[in-house]
Amino acid sequence: MEMGSSQEIEVLEARGEIYACPSCGYTDGFHVSFRWNEGASEGEVYLICPSCHRRFRMGWQISTSPIEP
Ligand SMILES: [Zn+2]
Repeated sequence: MEMGSSQEIEVLEARGEIYACPSCGYTDGFHVSFRWNEGASEGEVYLICPSCHRRFRMGWQISTSPIEP
């Protein structure tokens, strides 16, 4: 399976308190990672279960802008 492929990222509904993995039941929260669109400054934050390593999208769209010194 290709790394970074969107097919392997499940959608997780953003409501209530999210600390348990719906796939394996792990209850100590998630790792956070980022997926950037090719050649763009926009991307998405997604969650990774530290136990079963399933990935979950929450619809958290992000963008970058130049950082002024
Ligand atoms: Zn899990």
